[in-house]
Amino acid sequence: MMALLTTPKLKCFNCGNSFPVNFQKALRAQEIQCPYCFTKVEESSLDKVFSAMGEIQDVNADLVKYHTDGRDEPLFQLEFESTEVKKPYVNN
Ligand SMILES: [Zn+2]
Repeated sequence: MMALLTTPKLKCFNCGNSFPVNFQKALRAQEIQCPYCFTKVEESSLDKVFSAMGEIQDVNADLVKYHTDGRDEPLFQLEFESTEVKKPYVNN
């Protein structure tokens, strides 16, 4: 049986580093802090960040389940990257 662990990552634009978030631990502490520069995610944004992380972990867990439970669905996992772009962007 295959198991995949989805680890959410946050990019901190104060210092430019990305870091994995221990979701359960962060949820318990109700806090996410950049381990490089110690900047914290604003409290008013925490709930949204937590619910998005939980949702994506659920989706990824389901994708693995449907791949391994005999249904044999193709396996995909949601991943995101954030890139800074200048506005207005040119599409070419
Ligand atoms: Zn930082």
